[in-house]
Parts: sequence; structure tokens; C-alpha cells
Amino acid sequence: MSTDEALGALREAFAESLEAGHRWWRRAEAQADSATLARWAAAALTAMGPDDGISWGMRACDVLRRHGGASEIEPLRAARPGLPARKALRDWRLEADRALAVIEARAAGRCTCEAEARHGAPVAGPRWQVEGEAVDRAAYAIIHEVRCVPCGRRYRVERQEGYHYPVFRWAKL
Ligand SMILES: [Zn+2]
Repeated sequence: MSTDEALGALREAFAESLEAGHRWWRRAEAQADSATLARWAAAALTAMGPDDGISWGMRACDVLRRHGGASEIEPLRAARPGLPARKALRDWRLEADRALAVIEARAAGRCTCEAEARHGAPVAGPRWQVEGEAVDRAAYAIIHEVRCVPCGRRYRVERQEGYHYPVFRWAKL
């Protein structure tokens, strides 16, 4: 499938429903290689228009962050200033900044954990090994001690629930 064909199919899926859009990406991730997925996601972000919702952009950022490499750095940098702002509690475009930082680290041959930490990534998935957990009741926070599985670096992460969405503050241990 060419990038244009993929984008057309993705548009049809998102026009049907958000769930269909997410299903399209899940199926793509099961079938296509990382380079192809990253190219499609960069194209989706570049083509994002006034009618596309936050989910369109956030999902593209998510795929880019996990699959993107050196060839996506320039397209992402170029797309970032034109990404549409959307009314939401948290600016979704921060996910584009996170994706760019992670891709830059990957392209430079560094572990991506510091970029993830700097951009307040959630502690989720097999990439982080949670070694300790404590509750700070006064701060309405959960303190995680996590290890980056690929490189072994350890972090203390404060998960703050006092907002409308969880906020993760990372510090190196
Ligand atoms: Zn790491």
C-alpha cells in the first residue's frame, strides 16, 4: 500500500468512527514494518487539517514515537508549527514534542528513556519495570520507582492525580 492509499484508508476509517480509526492503526501495526508505519504516521500528521480531531493527531504521534527514525525528524519538525490547536484540558501537541524528542534520541543511538522522562511519559507498558510503589497521601500522588528495561537507568516518578488527567514527574535516581 502506498502512503497515499494508506492515508485514504485511514481517513475513511476515522470518518466512520474513532474506534474504526484506532482499529485501522492496530491492524497496520500488526502487518507493516516500523519504517512504513513511521512514514504513514508522519504523512498523517503532515496532512492533519481543520476537520481532523485530537485522536487523529495523537494516534499519529504515538505511532511516530514508537516507530519513527531519522527520516521522520524533518517532517515532524516541519509539521509541528502548523498542527491545529484543539480545546482540551491538555494541549495534545505536547505529544508531537515528545515524539520528536524520542525519535531524535533513537536516531542518535541513545536510549529513549531520558526523552520520555523529560516529556512526562506515563509509566505504562513492558518498557518500564516498576520496582517500588508508595502512596503520598498529602500530595495525592503515587511514587513509582522504575527501571528502563532496555538500558537499566532508574527513575523516581511521581504520578499526580490532582488534575483532570494524571501528570507524571520524572527524576533520575
Ligand atoms: Zn533507558
